[in-house]
Amino acid sequence: MEKRRFAELGLSPEILKAVDKLGFEEASPIQTAVIPLLLAGRDVVGQSATGSGKTAAFAIPAIERVNPAVKRVQALILCPTRELAVQVAEEVAKLAAFKRGVLEVPIYGGQSYDRQYRALQAGAQIVIGTPGRVMDLMERGALRLDALQLVVLDEADRMLDMGFRDDINHILSLVPEQRQILCFSATMPREIKDLITRFTKDPEWVKIEAQAQNAPQVEQIYFEVDRRSKLEALTRLIDVNDFRYGIIFCSTKIMVDELDEHLHARGYAVDRLHGDISQAQRNRVMDKFRRRGFEFLIATDVAARGLDVDDLEVVFNYDLPNDAEDYTHRIGRTGRAGKSGQAFTFVSGRELYKLQGMVRYAKLNIRRERIPSLDEVEEARTNVFFEKIRSTLDAREFKPHDRMIDRLLDQGYASTDICSALIHLLQGSAGGSAGAPPAKEKPARAAAPEPDTGWSSAPIPRKSKAARADSFSDDDGPPKKTKYERPARTGREAGMITLFLNVGRKQLVTPADIVGKIAGVTRLPAGIVGAIDLHQRHALVDVAEAHVSVVLNKLAGIRIKGQVLEPKVAVAE
Ligand code: ADP
Ligand code: MG
Repeated sequence: MEKRRFAELGLSPEILKAVDKLGFEEASPIQTAVIPLLLAGRDVVGQSATGSGKTAAFAIPAIERVNPAVKRVQALILCPTRELAVQVAEEVAKLAAFKRGVLEVPIYGGQSYDRQYRALQAGAQIVIGTPGRVMDLMERGALRLDALQLVVLDEADRMLDMGFRDDINHILSLVPEQRQILCFSATMPREIKDLITRFTKDPEWVKIEAQAQNAPQVEQIYFEVDRRSKLEALTRLIDVNDFRYGIIFCSTKIMVDELDEHLHARGYAVDRLHGDISQAQRNRVMDKFRRRGFEFLIATDVAARGLDVDDLEVVFNYDLPNDAEDYTHRIGRTGRAGKSGQAFTFVSGRELYKLQGMVRYAKLNIRRERIPSLDEVEEARTNVFFEKIRSTLDAREFKPHDRMIDRLLDQGYASTDICSALIHLLQGSAGGSAGAPPAKEKPARAAAPEPDTGWSSAPIPRKSKAARADSFSDDDGPPKKTKYERPARTGREAGMITLFLNVGRKQLVTPADIVGKIAGVTRLPAGIVGAIDLHQRHALVDVAEAHVSVVLNKLAGIRIKGQVLEPKVAVAE
């Protein structure tokens, strides 16, 4: 199935700019097929799956065909519901953002006629509406279709199901002879075929079959987590599944560094890759990772591009990737060579909608699960431990210690108590679990004298597991101290650190926006923000030293005026 670059479809620079701004990298198959046909003046009947990008497939040609100088309705897009009409109108608005003089208006029931009259009077050329209200406005004389060039029936079968057949027939019989028709319909019942025969001229039929996009072996799961709980969620999932080899993707270098630090602190063997790390160092990290010299690689998309590793057990999307393509790239690294792998994705807040968009667009087979509770982590840990004891027993991978055991038995201890005491000692040193007391007691490793007991080959998975589990409640943030508390000082205000934000006047940001955003996401008083220096494309913001790491954490990845923030500590001038 063909996909092409938008630039190859014969589009205007304004549309190309808009498409680029929307982040579309290439045209989807239905877009590739439909756009040139509509631009060439053909009637089209199209079928393709939900989420395949049909809206832009008709919106782009509609915008291109409109003559901005003519202030009359030139394109009519009929949709089954008002939600859809609004959604389509929004996409049209975005795609027409750089076309001067092109105006669109959604028309649907339930909204006051006033606004719709006004927009029509102002010369809107593209009308997006439900058939009922469109008919209504036509009858009132407010909507005239004599300059119409293009009619789009989006989700035609649904419109018929909703009882709009007469309205549609009526509307189509009133539009000028010299116009194009595009009809999208998921199914082709007779009624639709009749409609097509009656109103279209030699239409081109375009059918795009859905394509399985990713390796079916990859089990995809997403978790809705609060931003602040991501770290805890991550470690629980690693522990419950006993993962030992995987990649954790973050969206920014700062996130990579922070997560690296936090996971190190919690006893996981991790290393990191991102664009600021020298090539030589990257090669070292990669070699080590391939040799399984550590468990988890934390990386940005860019750093991990072209990275060739097999047999990953898991890929974590700690941050949601930018688009479906990055997502597919990321998860394609697990489950290679017929092996099954898992892909875990975290979404917080409104990222859910973004994920849903990706799911629709790329037909992802992903399901939701909830983060395991502490009890479940504990139980899984016990099970892992149990299995390891059993396999050690089955394989007889231990030296006998009959003398010591006999001595204990002689002194009257029960064998079950002896075992329990040993497990207690062992798990205490491993961080406690299986009913062992919580981490507070965390005995020193020396409490389990390895050479004497012969338990040295026993599984001590990672250091201080219980410490990890017990010291974090669900809404605990990451440990407060990060390397960003010792940044370069610019010394503008005592006790303040200057942060660099990648927004500025260009995004029409005001200092109040910045203060409001910081206060909003950190829930700290606005007073922690000092002087703000707005530049064209960036802002320098003073923040109370004690809160810098929180502010950096919370601002990373969120949007101000549509711009995704990548806050950093400003480098001293
Ligand atoms: P459909 O109408 O076929 O169900 P939509 O037009 O609603 O699909 O598109 C689904 C999603 O895909 C939307 O979020 C849209 O912005 C996005 N999308 C459309 N075209 C592209 C593209 N070429 N590249 C990336 N995303 C796209
Ligand atoms: Mg659609």
